[in-house]
Amino acid sequence: MKIINLSAYKILASMGNETVEAKLIFDNGQASMASVPAGISAGKYEVKKSLPDQAIREIGEIRERIIGREWTQETLDREISNHNFGGNATLAVSAAFFKASHQNLATSHFPKLMLLLFEGAKHGNPNIKFQEFMIIEDSVEQARADFEQMRSHVLEQTVGAEGGFSPESFNNEKILELIVQVFPDKRIAIDMAGSFGHDFKVPEGIFSVEDPFDDESWDKWTQFLAQNPKLQVVGDDLTVTNPQRIKKAIDLKAINAVIIKPNQNGTISGAMEAVKAARDGGLKIVVSHRGEETDDDWIVDFALAARADYVKFGGMDRGERVAKYNRLLALQNSQSPGPTNS
Ligand code: PEP
Ligand code: MG
Repeated sequence: MKIINLSAYKILASMGNETVEAKLIFDNGQASMASVPAGISAGKYEVKKSLPDQAIREIGEIRERIIGREWTQETLDREISNHNFGGNATLAVSAAFFKASHQNLATSHFPKLMLLLFEGAKHGNPNIKFQEFMIIEDSVEQARADFEQMRSHVLEQTVGAEGGFSPESFNNEKILELIVQVFPDKRIAIDMAGSFGHDFKVPEGIFSVEDPFDDESWDKWTQFLAQNPKLQVVGDDLTVTNPQRIKKAIDLKAINAVIIKPNQNGTISGAMEAVKAARDGGLKIVVSHRGEETDDDWIVDFALAARADYVKFGGMDRGERVAKYNRLLALQNSQSPGPTNS
């Protein structure tokens, strides 16, 4: 596809901080805009990002390198990487290209949802020591019904960064008890965001645990997975969507599942390389939003293109999270045959 113009501007992310949006124009007149999210509990090995004004200047430099020429996702991403631009600047351009080239994505494979019910630590009420408490859902419809059911057990209306409940009077123990009581048959997933806390003990009855340890303690991870072979052990800050760190985690048998967040990497192709490394190593793929999101929804299309096993799009009490569930519904419904007249 031939790019004839690129511009960028600041927009607001979900907690009011500035982020960047890029707009590409193609020679057929098509325009495509994409914005980038930011982590609240970002891992230290993520790609570096630039402050918004600097990112806009960098996108100006990217413009000079790419306009007037034909690109594929791979050639574009290769061209814009390797100049030390911030990952937020490169991803805005890369994702805008992805959106333009991935319309009408046809798939019959839809991921399971990790629906966020409660959140704490850096994402909410700090009395809640784990960052995320999720349940596994097969459909947006069921997730919606279950989210509403949980709401009836939470009297305080306090919502965390990602649209899950985060009430003052709750803590880890109370939340886990409540989830088991309300949804005795659902599989529970937690994110311990281990780089930001201490080594909490993983409670009984959990299906999936993300970042139980920090991003340096490889030995602890390996030992933990060996002792808990049936648990889904998910790397996030440990692996930061970086193919080399993912391969290392596979070699060390540190994880059996991995979070993929394109903005930890800096381009769509780089994140897809991380997906490939993970899949080649037999890991389950979990495509995830970030703590501070925009109302853009390209991460959903990315998750389908990556054939993710699971997605993390948060709770259902914030618009920027609901936007992702709505995109999923739109893509699902565009695959179904629709009503017939016969
Ligand atoms: C996470 O840790 O999985 C997460 C989504 O948080 P953040 O984007 O704040 O790193
Ligand atoms: Mg995480």
